[in-house]
Parts: sequence; structure tokens; C-alpha cells
Amino acid sequence: MSHRIYNFSAGPAILPEPVLQEAAEGVREINGSGMSVLEVSHRGKDYETIHTDAETRMLRVMSLDPTEYAVLFMGGGASQQFAQVPQNFLKPGVTADYVVSGDWGAKALSEAKHYGDAREAASSKAEKYAELPKSFTQTPGARYVHITTNNTIEGTEYFELPDTGDTPLIADMSSDYLALRRDYSKFTLMYGGAQKNIGPAGVTIVVGRKAFFESANTDLPKIYSYKTFLESRSLYNTPPTFPIYVVGLVLKWIEGEGGLDAIEARNRHKAALLYNTLDDLTPFFQPSVTEKADRSLMNVTWRLHDEALEPDLLAEFKKAGMQNLKGHRSVGGFRASIYNAFPEDGVRALADLLHDFVKRKG
Ligand code: PMP
Repeated sequence: MSHRIYNFSAGPAILPEPVLQEAAEGVREINGSGMSVLEVSHRGKDYETIHTDAETRMLRVMSLDPTEYAVLFMGGGASQQFAQVPQNFLKPGVTADYVVSGDWGAKALSEAKHYGDAREAASSKAEKYAELPKSFTQTPGARYVHITTNNTIEGTEYFELPDTGDTPLIADMSSDYLALRRDYSKFTLMYGGAQKNIGPAGVTIVVGRKAFFESANTDLPKIYSYKTFLESRSLYNTPPTFPIYVVGLVLKWIEGEGGLDAIEARNRHKAALLYNTLDDLTPFFQPSVTEKADRSLMNVTWRLHDEALEPDLLAEFKKAGMQNLKGHRSVGGFRASIYNAFPEDGVRALADLLHDFVKRKG
């Protein structure tokens, strides 16, 4: 590629270069078939290999047992899952507990209210979501507890999971899916769009316990039913074949890098570089997440004490080839999204620029 900038986008986000190269080859021709990967039938042999490979690798990377867990490839993004989870598991009179740790969690709760008795079990809204809720009130007999493992907008992340006892734990993992070695078997259902750590936009990856999918409501349209996707192995209708192909390539890349332990170590190192810089440069810069234990490895958020300097700093980022560092429109400030494929040298370059900026303007 002729010119790569440092892309700090929150998603769709940077992908590993070897993946981009292999995907580009696949777009020209796949497996000597005389066809582009974009042209193969989802019922054909070439695609069958791609589909199975992505499913198998996903569970292997997560260390999940394929006899217990299944991977579903769906459309509609995490936003569709906000509705689909309660549509499949709630009904009037059935309760679910939602831990609201950010704006996305609030959206998930609001969608669930269409289907059943969805309750806010905890919220850190009063703290402007600058920390995770410390505890939550569990409703006896709740169908599930829902959390957001990483809050993309605010920059907090769960490292210790809430203990929900026998109640199924469901998570929106959109922005830290496969970014660290979690015990994924603690979750009954996980979902997220691929477009941050796992691939391009267009496919939503749902991983869950087969028995839970099988226990879902049946009185709903087939296309919204997890059971339909489980039974057809996500081939009920035409799946997003190209995004799934790229997901397979990213999973192969993760395995080649040493799996989630290696990925997590790298992510921790990159995040520490940036948080240490921001802490050193406080109060000129102020990390938005004050509770250090809750700081996200993926989305590092901060503000300038003197907001009048924001345009200057953004102009300097641009000049240095660093893009998409403006904070989410709802919170302002800055946000560096440093997902799995984001290189350490880009994080160093950002840290150096911040130091330099303070030297000149501080
Ligand atoms: N949840 C979280 C935590 C997110 O970061 C996002 C997207 N940024 C969403 C949900 C919505 O995802 P989608 O755009 O795939 O619907």
C-alpha cells in the first residue's frame, strides 16, 4: 500500500495489513476457482470452506467447546442485537437486568423494553459513565443479565465480570471482542459487529450456548430467530459472505500472532503507553476515565483543560498523519481507538506529539 496513515477510528477500524493483502487477492480470485470471492455462491464448496473455517477458528480462539457453543453470522449490527436478544428471550412479565455503563448500554435497555420487563439494574450515568457501576441489583428469576464489556464512547472496560450466579450473562462485546483473554465460557451469549477488532462492517457475530439458543421464544419471524440461524448454520438466507471471509482471515492472523494471550499483552502495553502519557501531562490533558481500574484498553478518552486549544491539537494530528482522534460527538474531547491491529509505533507517535504539544503550549 502506498501510504498508510495512523487510523485511530472507533470503527470501522484498522485491519492487519496481511489481511488486507490476502483479502485483495481473494477479491481477484479465490482458490484458483476462476471466480472472485465476491462472486461465489453461498451454497458452493468454496464458500462452505470459508464459512466453516471462520466458525471453527472463532470458537478455537475463544477456547470455547464447539459441542456447547455455536457461532452465528448475522446482519444488522449490534444495534439489531439490542432488539433481537429481548425478542428471543423476553415476553411481557419476563424480567431481564441491564447494567448500564454507557450510552450503548442505555440503548440496549431501551430496545429491550419493547419486549418484556427490562430493568436498569445499575447505572453510572450520574458519574457521566466515567467509571463502571460498582454493583448491581439482581432480580430473582431474571431471564438474563446484560452488560457492555467495553464502552466505546466513554472509554471504560470490564476486566472483572459481575457475578450473576446461575443467571445467564449476555454481553455486547462490540468494541473489545477478541481483544483480551477472557473466560468466555462465563458468558451465555455474546454479540458484536465485526468492524472493530474482527473484520469489516457487515457481519454481526453472535456466540452463545446452543442450549440457550434452543430455549428461545418460538413465536417470532424466522429471520429474527436465533434457532433458525443455529439450525441452518447461518445459511438460512444469503449471509454476508465477503465480511465472513475477511473475519476468517483476521482470525487466522490472531492465531498466527500467538492467540489472545499475545494480543492482550500487546494491547495492555499500547494502552499503558498512552495512559501513562496522559497521567504525566495532567492537568494540561485529563484522562476522562478517573477510575484507573476501569480504563479501556481499546478506546482511550481524554480532554484538554483549555478547550480553546482543541482545534490546534486536531490540526497537528492531521499534519502528523493521525486521523479520527476527535471524541464522540456526545462527549467531546479526544478518543484514540487502538484496537488489535493498531501498531505500537502509532501509539508512540501520538504520545510523543502530546508531550511536544505541552512543551510548546503548556
Ligand atoms: N455497542 C457498542 C459498544 C458499540 O461500540 C457500537 C458501535 N460503535 C454499537 C453497539 C452499535 O453497533 P452497530 O453499529 O454495529 O449497530
